[in-house]
Amino acid sequence: MPIESYNPHTGRVLRRFTAFSWAKTERVLSQAHRAAAPWAATSFAERAAVLRRAAALLRERQADLARLMALEMGKPVTDGRAEVLKCAACCEFYAEHAAGFLADEVIQTDARRSFISYQPLGVVLAIMPWNFPLWQVVRFAAPALMAGNVGLLKHASNVPQCALALEKIFHDAGLPPACFRTLLIGSDLVERLLADDRVRAATLTGSEAAGASVAAIAGAQIKKTVLELGGSDAFVVLADADLERAAKTAAQARMINAGQSCIAAKRFIVEKPIIREFIRQLKNHLLALRPGDPLDDTTQYGPLARPDLADELTRQVADSVAQGARVELFGGQSKPGTALFRPMILSNVKPGQRAYEEELFGPVALVLEAKDADDAVRLANDSRFGLGAGIWTADLRRGEALARRIESGAVFVNGLVKSMPELPFGGIKKSGYGRELSYLGIREFVNQKSIWIG
Ligand code: NAP
Repeated sequence: MPIESYNPHTGRVLRRFTAFSWAKTERVLSQAHRAAAPWAATSFAERAAVLRRAAALLRERQADLARLMALEMGKPVTDGRAEVLKCAACCEFYAEHAAGFLADEVIQTDARRSFISYQPLGVVLAIMPWNFPLWQVVRFAAPALMAGNVGLLKHASNVPQCALALEKIFHDAGLPPACFRTLLIGSDLVERLLADDRVRAATLTGSEAAGASVAAIAGAQIKKTVLELGGSDAFVVLADADLERAAKTAAQARMINAGQSCIAAKRFIVEKPIIREFIRQLKNHLLALRPGDPLDDTTQYGPLARPDLADELTRQVADSVAQGARVELFGGQSKPGTALFRPMILSNVKPGQRAYEEELFGPVALVLEAKDADDAVRLANDSRFGLGAGIWTADLRRGEALARRIESGAVFVNGLVKSMPELPFGGIKKSGYGRELSYLGIREFVNQKSIWIG
């Protein structure tokens, strides 16, 4: 893929970048490697001061950053501004809590004193997607830097300006430049980077295919990885649920980032007695949303990030319909090669259809009928993915019991699934492994060292 900023709303290329050669990439890696030990030797207070300044700069540059996301990948500026604030809060969260999360943990043994000490690994490579161009990076970078690691960012090829803007924020905040660098490279150089001993670990957020490839290469090098991959999350609505709230949240959940979110609810599993009413209400909410120019404050959803993504989604829908799915709400592209995709609802989605088996990374809601709560859990778990599910019921005890049975990294009962600094985030099955955020996230890229003193 060329490294270029392309505006999916206007169809114009904004800026092209020359990809780094291996020689340049290697230079940056070597600087990062040299910077790792001095950074690891800084105190938590020094690192926290940098992260707090980064948070302040994010807030100061909020409007410009939101505009950049709108231009590079079509996110409406109102959503972009919220994303920037979330990044600032995440920097502050780790500035505040990292020292506690990584404090020595005393363990009673036969020693005079024994404990776990959490120590940085060094250079961590982060391979990131375009859908939340700032948030995906910050939720890696804030804990990694606070833990004393240094980061190399290989961002998605269509958001180079977001990647550079974030690099500048960390540098302007006082981080030694070599401690966080954006590599303008395609995925072709990733293997060489992973094979280099100076890269100690890697994290990838993205598709299953990219995750499998990076994990295989890193595995051969005996390197730790964290993978945050795709999802096709269930949103279960039981007959006793507050249907109005559930349907309203369903529309919101499916339309996060024009449907391009790993934790966007994708499969709506609804008990039979309420399914028609659920579809009616969901349809009304989706139709009420206003598409438009992402730079316009009143726009509620923008185009998909690239026309080829919209073309692929159209093919997935067409194949599923040919395989028996029923269209409940007509939407989609106005013509091939355009990025705007209006929301759609499909029902009668069955095993074997592409919509049932694959992730639909755009605004297509699948509604599946469940006979009862057990059947709903069966359907929810009949997926290769498991990231963040939702359950809607008036009976909170039943909601909690069902939540324990759902195969996913998170379950929200009567609420919109979202990521937040306090709670761990990640998946199981083909949605990946490892956790980001919370104290678990910051402990992924550290040496959990046992020290025994006799
Ligand atoms: P993608 O095509 O996998 O790209 C993600 C990143 O991986 C990009 O930087 C990409 O670089 C790189 N990449 C692609 N193939 C690679 C390979 N073989 N080796 C090394 N790097 C490679 O995914 P996407 O289309 O940007 O993002 C959508 C996917 O990400 C969806 O499946 C979504 O569910 C998932 N996602 C998951 C989470 C989560 O937290 N679980 C969050 C957001 C998105 P190039 O751009 O240069 O190709």
